[in-house]
Amino acid sequence: MNKPKMATEKSASRVLMLLSQLERLIEEPRVSDNEAIRQITGKILHLIQTQEKTRKEVVSKGSGGMEIILSSLENTQDLQTTLNILSILNELLTVGGGRRTGVFVSKGGTAILLQLLVSSSKDPPANEELMLQIHSLLVKVGPKDRKFGVKARLNGALNVTLNLVKHNLQNHKLLLPCLQVLRVYSSNLVNAVSLGKSGALESMFEIIGPFSKKSTTLLKVALDTLAALLKSGMNARRAVDRGYLPTLLAIYQDWHRNDTRHRHMVIRKSILGCIKNLTNIKLGRKAFIDANGMRILYNTSTECLSVRTLDPLVNTSSLIMRKCFPKNRLPLPTIKSVFHHPLPHIPAGGPVAQLYNQPPGVDDVVDESDENEATEGDTENDTEYDEDDTGHKSQNDDIETDINKLRPIQVNTRPFDELRVYEYFCREFTENFEDDDFERPTSVIPPLSINSELHRPIIIPTTTSPLGPQNRHPLREDVLPPKPDESPLDLDSISISKRPEGKSDPDLVCSLGRLVLDGGVNGGSVDGPQEEGGEQAVLEVPDTAALLPLHDPDLYLEMVKSTCSVPAYTEVAYPDYFGHVALNLREPILERVYGVQRTKIFQDIERLIHPSDIHDKVVYDLDNESCPVIENGESLKFNSKFESGNLRKAIQVRKFEYDLILNSDINSNHYHQWFYFEVGNMRPGVRYRFNIINCEKSNSQFNYGMQVLMYSVQDAINGNPHWVRTGSDICYYKNHFSRSSIAAGGQKGKSYFTLTFTVTFQHKDDVCYFAYHYPYTYSMLMMHLQKLSDLRTAQIYYRQDDLCKTLGGNGCPLLTITAMPESSSDDHISQFRSRPVVFLSARVHPGETNSSWVMKGSLEFLMSCSPQAQSLRESYIFKIIPMLNPDGVINGNHRCSLSGEDLNRQWQSPNAELHPTIYHAKGLLQYLRATGRTPLVFCDYHGHSRKKNVFMYGCSIKETVWQTSTCDLHEDLGYRTLPKLLSQMAPAFSLSSCSFVVERSKESTARVVVWREIGVQRSYTMESTLCGCDQGKYKGLQIGTSELEEMGGQFCLALLRLRRFTTPLELHNHNSHLLDMDNDLIDTRNIPNITSPTTYVLEEDEPAFLEEVDYSAESNDENDPDLEPDLQDNHAFPDPHSDSELSRQDSLN
Ligand SMILES: [Zn+2]
Repeated sequence: MNKPKMATEKSASRVLMLLSQLERLIEEPRVSDNEAIRQITGKILHLIQTQEKTRKEVVSKGSGGMEIILSSLENTQDLQTTLNILSILNELLTVGGGRRTGVFVSKGGTAILLQLLVSSSKDPPANEELMLQIHSLLVKVGPKDRKFGVKARLNGALNVTLNLVKHNLQNHKLLLPCLQVLRVYSSNLVNAVSLGKSGALESMFEIIGPFSKKSTTLLKVALDTLAALLKSGMNARRAVDRGYLPTLLAIYQDWHRNDTRHRHMVIRKSILGCIKNLTNIKLGRKAFIDANGMRILYNTSTECLSVRTLDPLVNTSSLIMRKCFPKNRLPLPTIKSVFHHPLPHIPAGGPVAQLYNQPPGVDDVVDESDENEATEGDTENDTEYDEDDTGHKSQNDDIETDINKLRPIQVNTRPFDELRVYEYFCREFTENFEDDDFERPTSVIPPLSINSELHRPIIIPTTTSPLGPQNRHPLREDVLPPKPDESPLDLDSISISKRPEGKSDPDLVCSLGRLVLDGGVNGGSVDGPQEEGGEQAVLEVPDTAALLPLHDPDLYLEMVKSTCSVPAYTEVAYPDYFGHVALNLREPILERVYGVQRTKIFQDIERLIHPSDIHDKVVYDLDNESCPVIENGESLKFNSKFESGNLRKAIQVRKFEYDLILNSDINSNHYHQWFYFEVGNMRPGVRYRFNIINCEKSNSQFNYGMQVLMYSVQDAINGNPHWVRTGSDICYYKNHFSRSSIAAGGQKGKSYFTLTFTVTFQHKDDVCYFAYHYPYTYSMLMMHLQKLSDLRTAQIYYRQDDLCKTLGGNGCPLLTITAMPESSSDDHISQFRSRPVVFLSARVHPGETNSSWVMKGSLEFLMSCSPQAQSLRESYIFKIIPMLNPDGVINGNHRCSLSGEDLNRQWQSPNAELHPTIYHAKGLLQYLRATGRTPLVFCDYHGHSRKKNVFMYGCSIKETVWQTSTCDLHEDLGYRTLPKLLSQMAPAFSLSSCSFVVERSKESTARVVVWREIGVQRSYTMESTLCGCDQGKYKGLQIGTSELEEMGGQFCLALLRLRRFTTPLELHNHNSHLLDMDNDLIDTRNIPNITSPTTYVLEEDEPAFLEEVDYSAESNDENDPDLEPDLQDNHAFPDPHSDSELSRQDSLN
């Protein structure tokens, strides 16, 4: 046991002894000592070569070994000693990981080496062995020294190495380490520029050549060096000028052809790396196109597709091709919405003023100045406009840190006299309930207001003749399953009886117009003379009455008549007419197929490669009403001229592929996400590819398993009236259509995104509808409310008022639901009046149709006859605005109202004329507060486009302040009770996704304003996923209307439980047991932990998926060539590329 240990100590002490001898000799240099120093360093070298323990000893802390070695190296003039020491260092740094190199660097070794390099090269020819040793060491040291690039430049070492490379092109032994060092130098941008001017590019091209199995290591280093050099725009320009791009392409093709067994994938990848950097500049992209680069990379990639290990080549090629793909302009005359709605006044500086104050003739589709510039910004910085999405962007910057902006404000902006008008909406508080009231339901529904504008003939045909005359008859024989008494289907000829012109029809609601189904529709149809006339047809409406108690097709049509749309729609979409029955089938979140995006991108690139395959036929165009409807049966027919529809243009790109463009929100030039349109004239069994090409968000749940929704009229008639999740090969990626800075918030060079999906239709001559999410129109709401009011019993107090008229002339329904008092006795009336108010709203964002389905669930629960519902009604008075933005919904907007603004950003100071629904909703809340009836709960239902599950945003000063500092103020924790209850009751609800942080960007949302200004402690936004759930009972499933409706019902049940924690008359004072409950809540959530994901969800909640092709960015212009300063000889210039990059350098060994 002792013996080896002693032996070790002995040898260790020997090396230390030798080192101290060396130290003495170096300190007192005498010529005669040269031999002694040589001997000592030789002995040390021997020990180090043979014993790991010795190596450890030399670099161990306190040994001083490294200092002595370095000082010897610095001071010796003797070549043999120098070589010995360099060998010692090479031995030392070869093993031991980066730590020993770290010691070397920290003791100033880099500079000593570089000085040695420069001084030894003063008198050429330099000693080859010495150069070899120095460069071998530098290769090891470079990547570990953050300042290596700067040190090399300051010491003048760059050209020494480059000259060695130039003069030793055939001497591979020396060439390799020199090249490796050059590669490290070049990763510093300033160095790259300097080396480029000294001819480094040309040298690299002397090494890089056609396929050869020899010297592949050398070749790889040369290529990587070249790639690093080409990151400089100046070098890239030089390379393009010298015609290197076609050379590189030729070399790549050569390797592609000859490397049949794929042994040299890394070299092929490195060649692509050079091309990739070259094409960062505009000149490079042009040279690439001129050199037929698209076709070359396309063809080589196609040949690589079958070999999975070659994916990196395909992916890099794809990246280059996307970058070089010429930017297209959207084929539109303007990106402003096709429809314009005049506003009562246009606030200066507002979005509408900006939109319409552009001088005439300005092209807003692309930026004039940067056509083909394509200096793509970093998509990571995409700004989002979503309430639900801003969490991603500014992160902690967005958290409100000013505590004064978090405290309640007590000022009423409107005097109470003015608020008195809202007394009308709170009649239940003063009503005296005569005995009569208990004998029949309170019938206080005002007659539907009928707008005089609507007294025009209303014809409600659908589709642009989806079943052309020639197709009409074969329909039944060919497609429909033979049913003995099948009614003929005639989808293009539905009209309803007209309302007598100029006459109001007081009985409109009760006496529904009969559905007249004759083919002879007269003028007024926007579709021109399509009808044959006289053909009698009876449309069989699916009998859904039992399944859809709130649906009635006739009533729906009646509601449509009273709905005012900006385009004056005269058609009705079949799904809205027939109704949607929730599918009794699990619809799993789709697993992403590997390579989908790549395939789609390659198909896009083929447009350029095989232009003759491209039809480019416009088949639907709102901008051009005379757009010819082609009746040759070769094209699909599109339509979206119905409520909530918003397709602007459809272009047949290839035989079975269509580019679709969505209309902007009215009085706006963007917000494209929601879609709803109709397709006809399809061939069954064919795979149709659809591309929505003007999406704006940088990512989408369509990349994470969400499918689009489709409704087949044939299926509906055959007894399956369902919206169904459908589509394969779904993916969402950045495309080659440029977005003008006008539509991108001033940012130039951004692109649109494509949502692509592929569908195979089942039936011939079907009419199918596609939607972003389950549609829920305003007319549908009005129909549901009508049917709900029919559900009243003597126990239910239900009242529907019109809160106000919208800009578009539609009513904004306000519901009051509670239980009738038990009797008109004082006690019962007093109990009735003391019930706390719960205030609910939904659908301020028209594209978030899921919020309407949740609201429908809540309303149905509230009107049901279950004991719990009755108990709930007895507990609260509900004030509900089920649709805060009727105009947006009707006109197919995604985000805004007719004022072109996001209504959920107007709550701080809503304008009575421009934002009437918000102005009056807030007024009503202010009235309630002024009369001592501040709601117990306020909740605004929303939909979330990026996250799964259902969750809530609430408001807490403490949790907000905790994000940035500590805070010991006392805060009532009541805001957590409802979400906690929901997480226990509602399967789709996820507490861990909830957040109670107040963000600056949300200061004018309903949630924050109602919390601060009205003083509602439990003020929430409830967000429902558009996609599906990743936890709970519905884990792995896409969400459907029944789950959404269930959520609305569970929300009501949670309110019922909440009653246990709140006493009606002490709304703001919790009693002790409640505090306990809340303490429990807060303990379990571990709130004070700032990093807790439960308190503030910042991250994109989706992991990166397998396919590494980036779905968003493709062109990363890291260095704008025009901004790159001339850095040569400017040694004082701070290093723009921190040498930390060096640490990422992959060693070749
Ligand atoms: Zn929303």
